[in-house]
Amino acid sequence: MGCSARNVAAIGLLALVACAGATVRDALLDGDNIAPGIAVLRGVFVSGAQPDGNTVLLWAPGGLIVVDSGRHATHTQRTLSAAKAAGQPIAAIVNTHWHLDHVAGNARLRAAYPRSEVLASDAIRGALDGFLADYRKQLLQAITQAPKGSPQVSTWRAEVERIDAGERLLPTRPVTAAGDTVIAGRRLRLGLEHNAVSGGDVWLFDPASRVLVAGDLVTLPVPLFDTACPHGWLEALDRLQAQPFDLLVPGHGAPLSRLQFDRYRAALGNLLSCAAGEAGKPACVDAWLRDAQDLFPASEIPLARSSLDYYLDLLRAPDARLAKQYCRAGGTA
Ligand SMILES: [Zn+2]
Repeated sequence: MGCSARNVAAIGLLALVACAGATVRDALLDGDNIAPGIAVLRGVFVSGAQPDGNTVLLWAPGGLIVVDSGRHATHTQRTLSAAKAAGQPIAAIVNTHWHLDHVAGNARLRAAYPRSEVLASDAIRGALDGFLADYRKQLLQAITQAPKGSPQVSTWRAEVERIDAGERLLPTRPVTAAGDTVIAGRRLRLGLEHNAVSGGDVWLFDPASRVLVAGDLVTLPVPLFDTACPHGWLEALDRLQAQPFDLLVPGHGAPLSRLQFDRYRAALGNLLSCAAGEAGKPACVDAWLRDAQDLFPASEIPLARSSLDYYLDLLRAPDARLAKQYCRAGGTA
């Protein structure tokens, strides 16, 4: 985004002033702009390594709003560098959910900007006592049992440290209901889904740009079912669909148009129907690839295949583990 010289010449001095402001602002957001004053720092999601979620930066009168803070220091550092280049403080962090690839960077961002407020659902409190506490135990056990010199150990230790940040990851302004709000002086709409991906998924719609930040309600190359309520997830996508957005930023993957989002939603519905039916796993995987493959690069097909192989077992577990653990009665926002 920016202003061409031709535009400036055509629209005169007043526009030149406004346009110059926009150009500076856009340039400072580091070349990943998807709309004036809104940039996406894409998270890396590759086979064999823990991912980072996408981070979205929004320019606001009170400073930058950061949606999701990443897992690894290298990812979070990109946000800090963007803020420094912009000469703007980070005024607010919005976490779409508590998974470490979206929330672990909070500690680093808040160390640099202690006055920033953090908006997120309270589901992280339950996660720190439940899912993340269990995960921490597994990590410590794996560290103890690893052969001397195992290269994995430092990765596992770093995960334990991220969980141990505890309090520094929590919201200062809990999101307890969906609705319009003002964050750092920018008017935004927040949604809250209790029965979708994590027990407390926040999404954000910016009416000025018609950009919707979906968090892991939309992920590519595949939906991530680890803590999901599968049928509730589809209902949450209906609420996203009802928003007047032009561009949707997923938790992982490239931004999607409305049409592409509709295709994702249909593909997720087909995948859940396939998982509930009699077809073999390869047929369900092939159907997903047929439905969704042009929403992500061909290089991610192996990751999509191996992930779905795992998730289809989870969706088909005879004890309906996901629904029992992660779907609560009356759980919509
Ligand atoms: Zn994620």
